[in-house]
Formats: sequence, structure tokens, C-alpha cells
Amino acid sequence: MNNEIYDIAIIGGGPAGMFSAYYASLRKLKVALIESLPNLGGQPQTLYAQKEIYDVAALPKVSGTELVDQITEQMKLMPCDQFLGTSVTNIEENDGNWKITTDKQTIVTKSIIIAIGNGAFKPRKLTFDYDPMIEENNLSYFVNDINDFKNKDVAIAGGGDSAVDWAIHINELAKSTSIIHRRNRYRAMESSVDSLNDSTVDQLNPYIIKGVSFNADDPNKVDILLKKIKSENMKTITVDKLLVNYGFVSDSKILRDWNLELEGPFIKVSQQMETNLPNVFAIGDIATYPGKLQLIATAFAEGPTAVTKSLRNIYPDRDYFEHSTSMFS
Ligand SMILES: Cc1cc2nc3c(=O)[nH]c(=O)nc-3n(C[C@H](O)[C@H](O)[C@H](O)COP(=O)(O)OP(=O)(O)OC[C@H]3O[C@@H](n4cnc5c(N)ncnc54)[C@H](O)[C@@H]3O)c2cc1C
Repeated sequence: MNNEIYDIAIIGGGPAGMFSAYYASLRKLKVALIESLPNLGGQPQTLYAQKEIYDVAALPKVSGTELVDQITEQMKLMPCDQFLGTSVTNIEENDGNWKITTDKQTIVTKSIIIAIGNGAFKPRKLTFDYDPMIEENNLSYFVNDINDFKNKDVAIAGGGDSAVDWAIHINELAKSTSIIHRRNRYRAMESSVDSLNDSTVDQLNPYIIKGVSFNADDPNKVDILLKKIKSENMKTITVDKLLVNYGFVSDSKILRDWNLELEGPFIKVSQQMETNLPNVFAIGDIATYPGKLQLIATAFAEGPTAVTKSLRNIYPDRDYFEHSTSMFS
């Protein structure tokens, strides 16, 4: 149990949650930002890191990952407490505050901003059984630190943007890199596919993975059993690391137990982003109202509205300045 009582706890570290965390910190509120994945960035980081975005004000063209890097830089100006790799499972009122239960710890706060997008992302995992110990050192679904792959024999499974991009980047420092994809064509940006074709990455297409097990001679390595599509050809490759990039699934069903007024899978909010629960706000893709647009620009605007209403609710006697230049002075 963290003993701090936060002014605002923001659930979800996508564009909406990240910008609101920064803005709330700028307004001198004590902020907790809680994100279920090991890294911030939400959909732009997780689902379309390399895709270009053209409809964010003042940024003529920016990729998903560049946008997240920019907000991350901005957040460094006004740091807040971050709880990464932490999934919120419940919220309940407690002595005039809110108690947030997560899979790691309990967080107490005066107000909450729910910014969970389409819900918590989970990686699509390999569909066959394997020794769970393999996930300790050899098999991962995320890249936490690219240096984990330095001087290693690495296989990357998947054929989308992230698999292709990781294959190119990891190959720059790995001993050897293979990419395993069940089709001959990748679902990735043409420029990334060109870079992959120009690289030394071994492309194992069209193959699917049928099994993963510890190598009998060297238990620090794993054997990956591969089957060629539409053929009986099988082969085994031995690597130090297998990175699986089969995409993500998301789920917002958890909200049904939080006593929120919903419209379909979305949370109904007022013009000030208030939900039906006191001092609980919702912003970004999860929030709905007439005319709602599911855009990053919308999410960025909804954050300051929710933060300002929360600030006025929890500190009604404070003086308010609503331009950043007055806040920094
Ligand atoms: C392929 C694609 C292309 C797009 N292109 C554009 C575009 O060009 N321009 C544009 O404006 N918009 C675009 N969008 C939409 C845009 O990405 C979303 O509107 C935006 O990401 C919404 O931000 P958010 O912070 O509300 O949600 P998200 O980005 O979904 O972030 C929510 C975060 O909350 C976390 N979370 C969920 N549940 C929990 C929990 N229980 N506990 C802790 N954390 C939790 C999730 O892990 C996630 O990181 C695109 C979307 C997709 C899928």
C-alpha cells in the first residue's frame, strides 16, 4: 500500500492519460499515472508505432512513436509518479477519497481520470503449451530493453509493423536475427520492408511455430520447431531469444463492475468530462458524449477540461490561472 494520497490518479497511459498527467502536474496537483503495459504510449506506441499521423495540431507529420516520445519529453518538465506494468482492477469510494485496486498495490486518490482507451492491451500469445520457465529468459512478448538482445541469436515471430521494425533494429546489435512469418508478404510500411530486405535478417517465410522447448545441450537456449505452410517440411532453429509480435487484444469489460453509467462499451460523460460518480472523470477513446470523435486531438483537449474540473472540486478555494505561462512563473 502506497501511503500517499494523490490529488488525481489517471488510469491509462495513452496520449489522453499522458497529456493529462503532464497538465495536472503543471497545475501543481499530485498525480499518479497508472498503465497496465510496461511502457507508456497507448495505441500509437503499441498498435501503429511507425504509421504517420497528420491530424495533431502543430505537428505536420509525426509517427506514433515520435508522438509518444514528444509527450514523454514534455512530461519530464513536470514529473509525476508512474506505476507502469500495473493494471487497475477496481475503484471504490473510501472515506471521501477513492481507493484504486491494482494487480500490484492499492492507490488512494481524491479524484480519478479514466483514460483506458479500448481497455487493457494484452499480447496475443503463442497458442500451444510450453514450459512457463521459458518466459523467464528466452521468450518475450515486449521489448523492455533492446540491449537484452545484444550479441544474442534472436528470432522474431510476426509479420506486422512491429515485428519488421524490431527485426531491423535488433539485427543492428544481435549476433544473428531471424524473422518467422506465416506469409510471404509483410503487413508493414513499404520502406520498412525494403530495409528488412536490404538487411542480413534471415527471413523464414512462410513458416509457423509449432513448438518451443529448452535446448537439450544448452539449457540457456531454446529450440523453435517450425513447419512450412502447405508442406510437411519441418525444421528446428536454436536461439537465445524469441520475441513474439502477434499483436494485441484489448478489453474494457472490467468497467461493468465499477458502477459507471455506460453507453455500449463507453463511459458517458458531461461537457466537463464528469462521469456519474463523484470526482471520477473519463477522457479519450473510452469517453462518449454527443458528437464525440475518437482522435488524439480530442483526447488532448479533454484532459485539461477534466483536470480543471477536478481541481475546482477538490480545491474550491484556490486561485486559478489557466495559461501555462502563469503556471510556470
Ligand atoms: C491503427 C490506428 C491508427 C490511428 N490513427 C490515428 C490518427 O492518425 N490520428 C488520430 O488522431 N487518431 C488515430 N487513431 C486513434 C488514436 O490512436 C486514439 O484516439 C488514441 O490513442 C486514444 O488515446 P487514449 O489515451 O484515450 O487511449 P489509448 O491510446 O488506447 O491508451 C489507453 C491506455 O490505457 C491502458 N489501460 C487500459 N486499461 C487499463 C487498466 N485497467 N489499468 C491500467 N491501464 C490500462 C492501455 O494499456 C493503454 O496504454 C488511430 C488508431 C488506430 C488503432
